[in-house]
Amino acid sequence: MNNMTHFHPDEIMLLEFSAGTLATAPSICVSAHLHFCSQCRAQLLRLDQVGSHLLSEAEPLEVEDDVFDAVMAKLDSPAESQPEASKSRRDYPFSVGKLINNNLVSQTWKRLSGSVDVARFETGQNDFEVALHKICAGGKTPKHDHQGLEYTVVLKGSFSDESAVYREGDFLVRQPGDVHQPMGAQNGECICLSALSAPIKLTNPLGFLMKPWLRINPM
Ligand SMILES: [Zn+2]
Repeated sequence: MNNMTHFHPDEIMLLEFSAGTLATAPSICVSAHLHFCSQCRAQLLRLDQVGSHLLSEAEPLEVEDDVFDAVMAKLDSPAESQPEASKSRRDYPFSVGKLINNNLVSQTWKRLSGSVDVARFETGQNDFEVALHKICAGGKTPKHDHQGLEYTVVLKGSFSDESAVYREGDFLVRQPGDVHQPMGAQNGECICLSALSAPIKLTNPLGFLMKPWLRINPM
């Protein structure tokens, strides 16, 4: 059994998360990843120390209080790097469980395709659609491309695509234009948390990618 996560948010995302400038939906995904990944929790602690100094003049991002509290509550748990941190594993990351308990997510799974069910979150923001996706064992999803950014965290089980196998805790970023065909592992269902950006209306993708930087360095 391999509990190590192999795919992580990059340092810029962790920095924005630390500074509180990362948008709500990606923050939920980073929080979920942190539940699984002691390496990124340790990195976040370092960034918190550096970032509190460097980013002291950043504009705070306004988000729905309930959602952000739920996300940040994850950080109330001890964040020190411990090799045996996986002992405290739950079925779902704490933040996700809290969202469900707060009735911020529709708990009704809806059939998306023959192999995939979806349960959408109501996060009070419109930039991203946040949802749980459940792929049945061995289930194939339709081959699809991505019109917008998509963040995915594997919460349970595993799935694969043409490039790799993704296991519990792995954090993936899909760029606009990426094409792939995820397939659930044969040995059990796979549940993923995903945040999919609304279809991009900008014709210049650079304009979209610039947004996080504008939040960090408001003019
Ligand atoms: Zn990590």
